[in-house]
Amino acid sequence: MEKEIKEKKTITTDVIVGKEIYCDECGRLIFRKKDRQIVYSIGDYWELTTGHHDWGNDSIDSIKYFDLCSEECCTIKFEDYIQHCHGTEYFELEHEVGTKVNADHKEWIL
Ligand SMILES: [Zn+2]
Repeated sequence: MEKEIKEKKTITTDVIVGKEIYCDECGRLIFRKKDRQIVYSIGDYWELTTGHHDWGNDSIDSIKYFDLCSEECCTIKFEDYIQHCHGTEYFELEHEVGTKVNADHKEWIL
């Protein structure tokens, strides 16, 4: 006969409690959400998608997503795209309208 041996044990594991979005151009914190609450937000930001629509599976692989914090960072990314293209054929920029939350309190981030 086989019998299971049981003990009470506490298991510690990493649980996702929130998310942060950083600018892919300058590294600035754009947004932080923790325990389902927005605790930090600079307000408006931009989501950029690049890629190509060529025939084949690599069309999906070509898609890249970026988050950008300001018009200046959008301009830098756009100029880089115009000069180098990076194997992409489209540049879709979407303006995300947001509300500022604690963005003026730099000490809060620490
Ligand atoms: Zn930026």
